[in-house]
Amino acid sequence: MTKIKQDGEAGLEITRQLEGFYKEIITGIGEDASREGLLKTPERAAKAIQYLTHGYDLNPSKVINSALFAEEYSEMVIVKDIELYSLCEHHILPFFGKAHVAYIPNGHIVGLSKIPRVVDIFARRLQVQERLTHEILKCIDEALKPLGCAVVIEAKHMCMMMRGVQKQNSTTTTSAFTGQFNHVETRNEFLHLISSDLS
Ligand SMILES: [Zn+2]
Repeated sequence: MTKIKQDGEAGLEITRQLEGFYKEIITGIGEDASREGLLKTPERAAKAIQYLTHGYDLNPSKVINSALFAEEYSEMVIVKDIELYSLCEHHILPFFGKAHVAYIPNGHIVGLSKIPRVVDIFARRLQVQERLTHEILKCIDEALKPLGCAVVIEAKHMCMMMRGVQKQNSTTTTSAFTGQFNHVETRNEFLHLISSDLS
């Protein structure tokens, strides 16, 4: 089994294979895979995991490059509170929270809706929060070549909340910066803006 595609003949074949694996998991944990409530579960779970990892089939650089515009604006552009749902690659359990992304244009801006799309494409894969943060940063930095780029992610990890240390309220914060965001003043302005409400 190689790559997961949701459409076409090959896609159906992979869904069927995943169904088989989920049936074995259900049996493996001591459940009766043939009882009514679980009959269609392997199929539903197979489709769900394919949806939750559909980022592998998408190209984030293409998404950004499709909406680049020449513009002289050179103040900080921030898209904050981007909802984020991902799966930790160590336990295949969800982690979820918010991403905040900023860049300082250097001749080009990007259509604002593309930034959440890029976050989603990288999040819909098996991830660790640290790499997710860097991948988003690198993608935007390479496509826009801005004067600086910043990414902060705050997330809660189900693998910490439901198992292991069972810490219900801890949030993990990761951040990555390039260019002008390496200057304390610029970075602080960004951190201040993402932590304050407009009201
Ligand atoms: Zn984990």
